[in-house]
Amino acid sequence: MIEDKNQPRTSLSNLGEFGLIEHLTQNIEIAQPTTIKGIGDDGAVLDFKEKKVVVSTDLLIEGVHFDLAYMPLKHLGYKAAVVNVSDICAMNAKPTQITVSIAVSNRFPVEALDELYDGIKHAARVYGVDIIGGDTTSSQKGMILSITAIGEADEDDITYRVGATDTDLLVLTGDIGSAYMGLQVLEREKQVFQVNPDNQPDLDAYTYLIERQLKPEARMDVKELLKALEIKPTSMIDVSDGLSSEIMHLCKQSGVGCNLYEDKLPLDPQLINVCEEFNIDSTTVAINGGEDYELLFTIRMDDYDKIKGNPNFTIIGHMTQESEGIHLVTRANTKIPLKARGWNALKEEE
Ligand code: ADP
Ligand code: MG
Repeated sequence: MIEDKNQPRTSLSNLGEFGLIEHLTQNIEIAQPTTIKGIGDDGAVLDFKEKKVVVSTDLLIEGVHFDLAYMPLKHLGYKAAVVNVSDICAMNAKPTQITVSIAVSNRFPVEALDELYDGIKHAARVYGVDIIGGDTTSSQKGMILSITAIGEADEDDITYRVGATDTDLLVLTGDIGSAYMGLQVLEREKQVFQVNPDNQPDLDAYTYLIERQLKPEARMDVKELLKALEIKPTSMIDVSDGLSSEIMHLCKQSGVGCNLYEDKLPLDPQLINVCEEFNIDSTTVAINGGEDYELLFTIRMDDYDKIKGNPNFTIIGHMTQESEGIHLVTRANTKIPLKARGWNALKEEE
C-alpha cells in the first residue's frame, strides 16, 4: 500500500512510447473467436457474425475516481477492467474484449505500470476477455485510465433500462453497501497513517468490506443463471452509483414508479457491524452507497415462482404506476420518497 522506496524504478523515458507499449502488451494472447486481429496494427478487427455488439467506456482520473494512497495499482487495473465488464453484463451481454488507454506523468516508473497491467491482465483472464488495443500517452500530472469493454449478445437477450412495467418485481443480486463502507474504513486508516506512519492497521474486522471496495467483481454469472431459470429481465442496470439512483434510472426510462422495501435490503453482517461502529444508518448506506457492481433488474410477476428462494437473488420491491412515485417502505411501514443521491452526494453530506 505504502510506496517502498527501495523498489526498482525504471524511468518511463528509458523505454519511450513504443518501447513502453511493447513492454506492457508483450505476451497478451487472444482467446475469443470473435477477435480477428488484436494489438499491433492501426486498429483491431472483430467479427461478431449474427450477434449484436455492446460497447461501454469508462474514464478514471487519479484524485477524482481513485486514490493511490490506499488503492494498490494492481487493484486499480483489476477494478477498472471489472467495472467495464459489469456494464456489459448489465446489458445481459457476454463480455468479449477490452481496450486500455493510459496517460501517465513521469512520476510513475515502468514498474508501476507493470503492476497496473498485472491487474488488468488478471481481470482479462478471470473474465475471459481479450485485450485488443489501446493508447499510451503522457500526462502533466497524475494518471488517467480509460477502458472500453465490448460484448456480444443475441438481439432478444439484450436488456435495457427501459422495459419495466408497473406490475414487475424488482430484483437485486448479491448484497449492497459494503463497497462504500470499505471506502470509509480505508479513508479512516489513511488519516490514521498520516498522523502516525508507524501505526499498522488491523483490518481483520473489515476484510469483506475492503475487498468489495478494492476488488469488486462483475456479475458475469447472472446472464447464465437467468437463462437457466428461463427468466428474461424486462429492464436491467448495474449498481455503480448507488441503489436509489439506479432505481430512479429504471423508473424514469421505463415510465413506472417503485416501492422498495427496507426490510428486504440484502446487507452483509460485517456491513451492519461497521455501520454501528461508524454510527451511520445501514439503510442509508445500502441505498446511497455505490460501487457494489451488483445487477438490479425487473422481472414479470409471472416469473416470481422461478426466482423465489433463490440464494443468488433478492426481491427487494415492486414497480408501480408512474403516478405513485418512487418510495422506500420502511420497517415501520411508512413511505419515504426515494431521492437519487448516489455515493458522491453521500460523501459531500459528511
Ligand atoms: P497508433 O499510433 O496507430 O495510435 P500506437 O503506437 O499507439 O498506434 O499503438 C500500437 C498498437 O498498440 C495498437 O494496436 C494499439 O491498440 C496498441 N496499444 C497502444 N497502447 C496500448 C495500451 N496501453 N494497452 C494496450 N494496447 C495498446
Ligand atoms: Mg495510439
